[in-house]
Amino acid sequence: MDLSKLNPPQREAVVTLQGPLLVLAGAGSGKTRVITHRIVHLLNERPGHIMARNILAVTFTNKAATEMKERLVHMAGPRAQGVLVCTFHAFGAELLREDIHRLGWPRKFAIADMGDQLAIIRRAMRDHKIDDRSFDARKVLTLISKAKNSGKAPEPKPEGIGDDYDLITHMVYPDYQLALKAQGSVDFDDLLLLPTRLLREFPDLYEKYTRRFRYLLVDEFQDTNIAQLELLKLMAGEQRNVCAVGDDDQCIYSWRGAEVRNILDFDRFFPGGKEVRLEQNYRSVQTVLDAANAVIAKNPERKAKQMWTDRKGGPKVKVVGCPNDEEEARFVAHEIQKHISLGVPADEIAVLYRTNGQAHPVEEMLREKNIAYEVVGGSEFFDRREVKDVIAYFKVIVNKLDEISLMRIVNVPSRGIGDVTMERLNVHARGEGVTLWTVMRKADTYEDLPPGAGAKVLEFVQLIERYRDAYEHGQLAAVTRKLLEEIGFREATRAHATSATSADKKLKSVDGVLNSLENFEKREGPKASLLTYLNRLSLDTRQEEEEVPGGHRRVTLMTVHSSKGLEYRLVFFIGMEEDLMPHGGMQGEPQNLEEERRLCYVGITRAKELLYLTRANTRVKRGKEVPRTPSRFLEDLPPEVVEKVDLDAPRQGPPTTEEKNFFANLKERFKKPGAPGAGPPRGAAG
Ligand code: ATP
Ligand code: MG
Repeated sequence: MDLSKLNPPQREAVVTLQGPLLVLAGAGSGKTRVITHRIVHLLNERPGHIMARNILAVTFTNKAATEMKERLVHMAGPRAQGVLVCTFHAFGAELLREDIHRLGWPRKFAIADMGDQLAIIRRAMRDHKIDDRSFDARKVLTLISKAKNSGKAPEPKPEGIGDDYDLITHMVYPDYQLALKAQGSVDFDDLLLLPTRLLREFPDLYEKYTRRFRYLLVDEFQDTNIAQLELLKLMAGEQRNVCAVGDDDQCIYSWRGAEVRNILDFDRFFPGGKEVRLEQNYRSVQTVLDAANAVIAKNPERKAKQMWTDRKGGPKVKVVGCPNDEEEARFVAHEIQKHISLGVPADEIAVLYRTNGQAHPVEEMLREKNIAYEVVGGSEFFDRREVKDVIAYFKVIVNKLDEISLMRIVNVPSRGIGDVTMERLNVHARGEGVTLWTVMRKADTYEDLPPGAGAKVLEFVQLIERYRDAYEHGQLAAVTRKLLEEIGFREATRAHATSATSADKKLKSVDGVLNSLENFEKREGPKASLLTYLNRLSLDTRQEEEEVPGGHRRVTLMTVHSSKGLEYRLVFFIGMEEDLMPHGGMQGEPQNLEEERRLCYVGITRAKELLYLTRANTRVKRGKEVPRTPSRFLEDLPPEVVEKVDLDAPRQGPPTTEEKNFFANLKERFKKPGAPGAGPPRGAAG
């Protein structure tokens, strides 16, 4: 590998192979690049001593993992395939797949999704005679998850100051854990906690994993939580070859338990290591960098960072005031069209927003102009009823202990197995102390079931078992097609729909599942199984998209949160208003202004060449048009790098000479082989 493509501190980080290493540096300074180059260096440095399988790289999202892997293979060839690149949760799942039976779970455990979790919590609440209409099960789930992520069981607060939810959570938690285990499932948080337990409680497993993964690398370290740090500390073993990179100014997930102290106190958790600072920003032009620096500088208690770029100048940051949100969307779509016509590839353009709801007007305008786009996350595809039903079939086929899914589909489509039948079978199961499935397998032996019900249950059981065998031989999409046909799923879906268009939509969703299975098979090859598919889904729903027609080059729409680590030549950061950016609490005042400021910094620093910050004077909220105030962050921007555009006096004409020249230059640069941006994958950083 060519180390000359790195600056001196980057090189130092890449070639320091032993002991803890922290790279703490601002956005766009090449932290992710350090990780990929370091992996390639590890592979090259001591061939025969360090194998690909000894390396574990942890990214923040599955998408980032896929892109990093592609980049590694691109740089180091096929041998990089053996490097494990994944999120903490995916790593946990992988580890559990091998060894969870040591804790009494089946190896083919299921990963409970939020629907499953809520169903268990509601059931436990009812068992405790807590009305699940007066108390929100979601809130209980949040509290349970918070406690688990901080490495503790939930506890009620000391008498007098604890609220009802603390108490309920404390009561429900043990039942919740037992119920999960009884149905052979783990929740998302368990993917971190159970591996930690395995490594702590079983010395042989500690040996096995610390020997195998001798080099650990973690990207976006500022957004790790306590449970992840615990797992990392164990995995580091005695060798402690941990390389963590991150930026405390980009800690934006503290609401989900991220602990910025993990990075600030790295030296306390991994003493005696080295710390490297990177100060040159390679991503953004000077104007963008100045804007970003000015916004983040206002945060107290940060590790001050000096960032500079040699990409002096650059077009000014455009701060655009629009009459209303519709005009804002129209402006964005118009500018996007203009830049695409000037030669900017659509996949080098992103629209960022604070909340998912802001995407809709932009989507509409882009559709109107026939511009291909993709919305990252916020997809409700897997929440659709018919999709959930099909997935529930998969879950039961893979894991007969999954009673929540079983109850969901036992009579879908309707096959004459009513509530009374299932209630009685449940009573028998509890009475005999066996699983519901065991009881169902001998349903014909119970005399208290409605006439004919026993036989129907048996038929269902046989159906599931037949398909369990059928799926053993792969061909996931084909087998599913057969299954859906056999149970008359499409006919039933059509019959239940309220209109022809709704029927069409529902059937399209079913096709969507089949598509997603086919893609999965293509990607995974012979390794593809129903179980791995389900795992991927539960780890990845935020990334999994419906197939959007319109080729590969698409404009990206996403929340600022999901834009972490990515970069685009053009960025539209929309909704720069109070109560959106910064996001407001109940009274409209931001609850965590510092984190909102960090978010703003993350958004701005995604732009390589040109940044638009747009806002609306009024916005439709719950059907009413409400006046809006410009974001306080706009006031922090240095006036000399800003160009204010007021759309009440619109300038929607042809591009200015300044813009034309700028992009003409750019086009030249991007033509050259080896220029930044050349080589796969597009839109990825590092
Ligand atoms: P973020 O904090 O946003 O995750 P980062 O610190 O991870 O940013 P990278 O994404 O690794 O930064 O790098 C930003 C851009 O700068 C990438 O396009 C990368 O290829 C480029 N880059 C980094 N280091 C160098 C270098 N030494 N020479 C040329 N380009 C570089
Ligand atoms: Mg990065």
